[in-house]
Amino acid sequence: MSGRRSSAGDAITLHRDDLPDGLDLGRSVAVDTETMGLNPYRDRLCLVQLSSGDGTAHLVQLVPGRPGGAPADCPNLKRLLSDPSVLKIMHFARFDVAVLQRTLGITVAPTVCTKIAARLVRTFTDRHGLAALCRDLLGVEISKQQQSSDWGAAELTPEQLAYAASDVLHLHALWERLEALLVREDRRELAQACYDFLPARTRLDLLGYEDPDIFSHRA
Ligand code: MN
Repeated sequence: MSGRRSSAGDAITLHRDDLPDGLDLGRSVAVDTETMGLNPYRDRLCLVQLSSGDGTAHLVQLVPGRPGGAPADCPNLKRLLSDPSVLKIMHFARFDVAVLQRTLGITVAPTVCTKIAARLVRTFTDRHGLAALCRDLLGVEISKQQQSSDWGAAELTPEQLAYAASDVLHLHALWERLEALLVREDRRELAQACYDFLPARTRLDLLGYEDPDIFSHRA
């Protein structure tokens, strides 16, 4: 099921179970996921969105195909997400990396996270959501209306596909803006140290060391 395009203008290609063979998305790929909810143990992964930053998005729909509700194997997707030569650009990578690790058994790396970058440089605000960053840094309005829709549906609606794509279409531009701010504020190295720590952070989360956090003084 590939080659399906949305009516929204930006090319959106929907794939089922895995990326097609031979698809090259370049050296930096924007990645996001949609799940049934926010608990990686309870809520299954439904969709993985990817963009090379060229205004088009590839969406991989994962449907339960194996005992226990696990998706069918997706070797191309797994290879890309764990390829050490391909940078993954994400927003709040901590969640997506955890759910991808839990579902696909892979360590997603290397990553950068636009939310971490925003927190490091935009200390004048507490608004670090993707929509707020797209508005403030890019002048782009993205709708979050479909965020809490049923991503487990067998047939996703055009609105869901457009929303899912919009979560990756602007990450390259956002990352570029935030990189410049990290350099300006001399926090680029600190950001890199945070990105490098993400696989360990998500392993801690999945082991149950999320609350209280291991860095917390609270007993
Ligand atoms: Mn999303």
